[in-house]
Amino acid sequence: MACEHISEITKIKTARKRECEDCVKIGASWVHLRTCQTCGGTRCCDSSPNRHASKHAHASGHPVIASAEPGERWLYCFPDDDFAEY
Ligand SMILES: [Zn+2]
Ligand SMILES: [Zn+2]
Ligand SMILES: [Zn+2]
Repeated sequence: MACEHISEITKIKTARKRECEDCVKIGASWVHLRTCQTCGGTRCCDSSPNRHASKHAHASGHPVIASAEPGERWLYCFPDDDFAEY
C-alpha cells in the first residue's frame, strides 16, 4: 500500500520542460529530473550536484515527486520515504 500522499494522486503531472528550473537559473548541470506532483515544477534528483527536487520538497512541503525520465513510471514521497510504480 502506498502512503496517503501517493494514494491521493489521480493524474500524474509530467515535466513541462525537460530541464531543472533551478539549475538553469544558476548554469548548473543535472543527472536526472523529477517533477513535483503538487506544483508541477521539474527539478534535479539526489544524484545531481544541487539536489533541487529534494530541496524543493523540504522547503515547500510538497511531498511527492514523479520521475521525469523517459520510460520511468514511479512516484516517491519524501516525508514517508515511500515509492510506488504506476
Ligand atoms: Zn506520503
Ligand atoms: Zn537542479
Ligand atoms: Zn512543488
